[in-house]
Amino acid sequence: MLNPPDGSQLALPNVDFESAPGAALQVTTLPRARRVYVNRSLRLDQVEWVGFDMDYTLAIYRQAEMDRLSIEATLKKLVARGYPDLLLEARFDTNFPIRGLVIDKRFGHVVKMDRYKFVGRAWHGLQELPREQRYALYHAKKLKVAPPRYHYIDTLYALPEAALYAGAVDLLDRYGINTDYQQLFDDIRECIDEAHRDGAINDTIALDLPRYVDRDPNLAATLHKLRSAGKKLFVLTNSRWAYTDAMMTYLLGGALPEYTHWRQYFDIVSVAAGKPGFFTERRPFLERVTEGDAQSTRPAYALERGHIYENGNLRDFERMLNVTGDRILYVGDHIFGDILRSKKDSSWRTAMIIQEMDEELAAQEECQEALEQLDSMARRRERLEDELRFYQARYRAATRARAAGEIIDEARLAIENLKLGLRELETASRALKKTTERRFHPYWGSLFKQGVELSSFGDQVEEYACLYTSRVSNLLHYSPLHYFRSSRDLMPHEL
Ligand SMILES: [Mg+2]
Repeated sequence: MLNPPDGSQLALPNVDFESAPGAALQVTTLPRARRVYVNRSLRLDQVEWVGFDMDYTLAIYRQAEMDRLSIEATLKKLVARGYPDLLLEARFDTNFPIRGLVIDKRFGHVVKMDRYKFVGRAWHGLQELPREQRYALYHAKKLKVAPPRYHYIDTLYALPEAALYAGAVDLLDRYGINTDYQQLFDDIRECIDEAHRDGAINDTIALDLPRYVDRDPNLAATLHKLRSAGKKLFVLTNSRWAYTDAMMTYLLGGALPEYTHWRQYFDIVSVAAGKPGFFTERRPFLERVTEGDAQSTRPAYALERGHIYENGNLRDFERMLNVTGDRILYVGDHIFGDILRSKKDSSWRTAMIIQEMDEELAAQEECQEALEQLDSMARRRERLEDELRFYQARYRAATRARAAGEIIDEARLAIENLKLGLRELETASRALKKTTERRFHPYWGSLFKQGVELSSFGDQVEEYACLYTSRVSNLLHYSPLHYFRSSRDLMPHEL
């Protein structure tokens, strides 16, 4: 398959993208949902290659449709494995899960942790665990969150697993059916994997892409803008070729008159990449060869435009393209497979696509006043507690010194009033916290926060993603030479 017309290079003008004065100003007037956020400074002018994952990165899936499809396909398989038919009739709340949750298979719980592995919320089925039970289970000793007992839900693909698990635990418990919670989750996982393998899910999507995938009208222009500034682009996806081709044609086909085929946007196309293994193992690249109707692969010794590759690994990729990792920006959605591994095992720069940000930002905006109120309540509480300590000390001293009765009474009265004030404040702040969190998410609150700390998901995003944003096309609002500056966190001693 040498230089087919659909992979041919397009002559591009090297447009002058020198940041115009005031470009930085423009960014701050962008709606928050369209912005790119920076954890670690990144100079886009230093980036030579920009790579993209496909699923949930270039392709924005409609989560509700995807959840419905996965759950349906999986339920049939679960019932075939001997689970009761009543599962087929059940309604599963696809709003239940968010990314970053952890399944505790031993007890049938789903939990949310903060960055210190402190479990801040836990549900058994669709019942929230009372605080005492949660403390007894998860806080008495340090948690070792690892398989086989624990399982992370870290992609949007995996959300239906959690929805199914919580829903099934709830239902089976209610009907008094004795359930091995560990086995139940493992069965759900296997059934979903099976549905992906046998095509029950992907074939259905490919047959009706508009139903499952949002075609972003700005995607093509975004890629074109990067290319016009001299960047080389690549696709690195775990999806197989046929699915990738169908999806990319849907996303980019006919979008810009200059491009007659989606492959013209990309210098390298590599499928079935096997991430995260791509970053840690040494599987050789293969080139796909088409002869007549026959498909085969042969070892690849170079990576070239116009060819399709499979497998591969990080080291060969950098060597064959003669590029160092710090000149590569990889855009993906999977904290572990795309972002964490490429960060830990390479020097690739990373941008994470977090579809949920639109909702999160809307909630944040709506709750701004409540959040400020909570802050001021916290400060008021500190003041009251200080005062309380003062009067308690005074009361003790006065009693010890056998002071006049009215001095002791005065201190006692102050203490009682302060305690009452603190109790009222606590009740009010708890109620306000609850309604605020519910606005973010009815079951779990904010995706990025747990209480006052970062959630474990937020922590990973902060740690591993240089940039993060809700969709690839948000890059369109920035110059391809933009200097993304982080607003570094201050340590306590710098405040
Ligand atoms: Mg993906």
